[in-house]
Amino acid sequence: MITATLVATFAAPAVAASWYLAPMVGRRRQEHRLRAICAGSGTLVLTYDDGPGPELTPRLLDLLDARGARATFFVLGVRAAEDPALVDRIADEGHEVACHTHDHLNAWRALPWRGAADVDAGYRSLARWVPDDGPFRPPHGKMTLLTWAALRRRRAPIGWWTINSGDVQAELPPVATAVEKATRAGGGIVLFHDADREPERHDFVLQSTELLLDAAQENGWSVRTFGEVAAECARHA
Ligand SMILES: [Zn+2]
Repeated sequence: MITATLVATFAAPAVAASWYLAPMVGRRRQEHRLRAICAGSGTLVLTYDDGPGPELTPRLLDLLDARGARATFFVLGVRAAEDPALVDRIADEGHEVACHTHDHLNAWRALPWRGAADVDAGYRSLARWVPDDGPFRPPHGKMTLLTWAALRRRRAPIGWWTINSGDVQAELPPVATAVEKATRAGGGIVLFHDADREPERHDFVLQSTELLLDAAQENGWSVRTFGEVAAECARHA
C-alpha cells in the first residue's frame, strides 16, 4: 500500500516530466548552439511554416528570387497534397523543403501514438521533396519523448528557431521587430509562416523578410538554409 502510494506520488510526475520536459531540455541546448553558430559565422536563416499558401508563397518566392536568397520551407503534408506544383516550384528555385508533419497535430494535445504517426505521415507525403532524414519542425514547437524518438530514429535535425517574427500573434508587432532582434544577435534563424491568412499578415511577412535581407547585405551575413546550419552544428557536436 505504502509502495503504491509512493509510486503514485513520485513516479507519475517523473514520467510526465520526462515525457514533456526531456525534449525541451534538448531544445534549449540546441537553440543555444544554433544561436552561437549563426552569430559566429554571421548567418541568417529564413524559415516559413505551415505552407505552401497559394497566395503568399508565390509572392514570397518572387521576392526571394529577386534578392537571390534561399530559404527553408517547413511544409505540411496536407497542404502539399493540395498544391504539389507549388512545392515543386519551391524546390526548383533552390530552396530547402522540410517536414512540418502531415496534419499539424500538437504532440502535447494529441494521443501519444497519433503525434508520432503524424511525424511519419508528414515524411511519407513529402517524400518527393524531403529526404527521410530531412529537417523537421514540430507544430507549435511541442514534442513528447515519442515524437522525439521518431526523429532520432531518422537522424533528422529538429528545426528550432532563434528569432520569432511574431507573424501569428493576435496583434502584429512592428514590422522591424525581427530585423532588430537579428541585428542584436548578429544573425539567427527566423520563424515565419507562409500559409494564407489576412492580407496584412502577408504584407508583414514580405516586408519583414525584405528588411532582413537588407540587413544581411549591410552586415555581410550569409543567407543559408536550415539544413546547412544543422549540418555545421552536427559537425561541431
Ligand atoms: Zn506550424
